[in-house]
Amino acid sequence: MYLKGVGPQRAALLAERGIHTVEDLLGYLPFRYEDRTRFAAIREIQPGGTYTLQAEVVSGGVVRFARSRNAVYHLMVRDPTGVLHCKFFHGGYLEGRFKAGQRIVLYGKVELDPYRPARLEMINPQYELLGSGAADSTEVGRIVPIYEAIGSIGSRTLRRVIYAALANLDAGLQDPLPAALLNRYRFPSRRDALTYAHFPPRTEVVETLNAFRSPAHQRLIFEEFFFYQLGLALRRQQARQQAGIALRVREERIREALKRILPFKPTAAQKRVLAEIGADLERPVPMNRLLQGDVGSGKTIVALEAATIAIENGCQAVLMAPTEILAVQHYLAARRIFARAGYAVELLISGLKSSEKKAARERVRRGAAQFVVGTHALIEEGVDFARLGLVVVDEQHRFGVLQRKQLIEKGAARGVSPHVLVMTATPIPRTLSLTLYGDLDNSVIDQMPPGRPPVETRWTTEEHLPGVWEFLRREAARGRQSYIVYPVIEESKQELKAAIIEYERLSKTVFPGLRLGLLHGRLRSEEKENVMEGFRRGKIQVLVSTTVIEVGVDVPNATTMVIEHAERFGLAQLHQLRGRIGRGQEKSRCVLVAPKELTEDARERLETMVRTANGFEIAEIDLKLRGPGEFFGTRQHGELGFHLANPLRDRELLDWARREAFALVAGGTGEREAGAALASETLPQGTAAAATAPAPQDPAEAASELKRLLDYLGPKWQRRYQLATVG
Ligand code: ADP
Ligand code: MG
Repeated sequence: MYLKGVGPQRAALLAERGIHTVEDLLGYLPFRYEDRTRFAAIREIQPGGTYTLQAEVVSGGVVRFARSRNAVYHLMVRDPTGVLHCKFFHGGYLEGRFKAGQRIVLYGKVELDPYRPARLEMINPQYELLGSGAADSTEVGRIVPIYEAIGSIGSRTLRRVIYAALANLDAGLQDPLPAALLNRYRFPSRRDALTYAHFPPRTEVVETLNAFRSPAHQRLIFEEFFFYQLGLALRRQQARQQAGIALRVREERIREALKRILPFKPTAAQKRVLAEIGADLERPVPMNRLLQGDVGSGKTIVALEAATIAIENGCQAVLMAPTEILAVQHYLAARRIFARAGYAVELLISGLKSSEKKAARERVRRGAAQFVVGTHALIEEGVDFARLGLVVVDEQHRFGVLQRKQLIEKGAARGVSPHVLVMTATPIPRTLSLTLYGDLDNSVIDQMPPGRPPVETRWTTEEHLPGVWEFLRREAARGRQSYIVYPVIEESKQELKAAIIEYERLSKTVFPGLRLGLLHGRLRSEEKENVMEGFRRGKIQVLVSTTVIEVGVDVPNATTMVIEHAERFGLAQLHQLRGRIGRGQEKSRCVLVAPKELTEDARERLETMVRTANGFEIAEIDLKLRGPGEFFGTRQHGELGFHLANPLRDRELLDWARREAFALVAGGTGEREAGAALASETLPQGTAAAATAPAPQDPAEAASELKRLLDYLGPKWQRRYQLATVG
């Protein structure tokens, strides 16, 4: 990149952030804007207000308190109307940064000094030191973009470099969005949008910019969604062009086999979902389906039914689970359920002895193993299937897209791709499922098996624990079992101590008469399995555990769950944990224990848990509290690769972009009706998006547009969207 102000050192820093070209640099947008068309005068500021000031440094220095490691940096500035004190907490790093006479712009909230109530001060302001000459036109007298620093490259430098890059920008900069879309949505061109988003005119309202609602922002957000959705549409289309295995489904023999394995009467939702899956399995195209259902809604049996169809057609089926505990449990359930059908069930986890593993792999390779359950060990080198017809991935959010793909490829070795069913118990708000799983068909189990009294959830403080323990003793006396969960999130040794120490203390002093067990991620596979087996058989009455029991564990006789330090868990996690109880006919109770003093977010999480057990409602609140970035953990978010777009905030743009992208891909390949139907099925009726339906397109035109877009995407493809390469 040859640019004014970017030498080799800075170029290296930028490259670390994925900024290699001028285009990349222009894609690095401000995260905030400051109105510097007019600065507040120090004399006129009021406590409680937020201001932008331009001033001159008078003096500064660190103040340390004897018994505290916290250093506070005090800065005094002045303008022609007065002086102002600023405080930077934890400001030790500012030592030596400011010199008297420097010009500075400050942005922050003004308060009364608690020790000298006549004096105003600005707390932790954002600041920018201006150059010594006349003010640059990029930094004052306008609405100024504020960039997140990249290493040692601060906002001010970035602003100058970007300003220069924009000035030299080719007037004919290619616009990747189809012209028809620009017209339909009245979006500015890419060039105009970039110029506007970096250096907005002074007539724009700064709040609009800060909410990313300006037409320029909307267009850039739309563009991110559009290309992402285009990737999904292409991935979906590509999957549909692969050869799959058409299984026989509607035959008396299959119906009999299904009836044989069912241990109970399926719910209407389970039946509906199985019908959707069956329709996919019949076609000579691989199924790609997401099965969503709240914890305890009964997804496992649906997966086993699908496996039955595959096995009856002479294929193998595989189920991949994220933890060994869960894999073993699925293995045991499958053995029990498939016993009457006589299918050979195999377990493949890394905890197996190497001779066992070898034998198991051999049975999988020969086809002697018909239903294979396992963990990541399934995608290791050396695992081959004789005839894999169905892949089921449980708790998909625990895996990356890549791992799913690796497993699928094991089956695709012979030129046909297996059918794929992805299951998730973290209900995904619609907006996010459209981005994360937008290439999959969707099935939802929206009904719980009958006869399950709802779990009663309470929230209490530590001083009431003796009463809680007494309740656990009474439940144990009635033959019921309990979980006590501790927040070990990283499973580091130190954190683990809490669970281990509590386990010892509870065993000795609180429940000397009961049989306790301890479960955590650091145990060896066998130890884990022994503990789980003990709990399943009722030998262990109280299971003290970390979050390893979060997913999937199914022991219907467990009726009580106590979660200590509940304030330290995320909402989705609390919901998953609570899903371990309320699985039988007995009334179940969940007790959340937390300190009296709570942050607002923690309080909202606990209140939500007490109020509702609806996973979708909980997921929406979770998403609101954490934002989409945190929602699935960083790995999943990284795969989205959005700079500006936020699926939660920008729902409507997401809907528009999805419709357009899917319609374009369908139109360009002659599958117009299907594409339009799919795109519209995802839209709530009566929204603005539904009103702006994609105009019918000439197939030839659509095809050439599509080709142009693919060319544009080419090299960016892997980097930005990390989707499988497309044709
Ligand atoms: P999840 O969807 O969380 O994976 P599971 O498949 O583990 O749920 O099912 C939860 C429990 O409900 C299991 O004990 C299962 O045997 C039971 N179950 C599932 N479907 C039904 C049904 N239709 N009738 C009665 N019990 C059911
Ligand atoms: Mg499950």
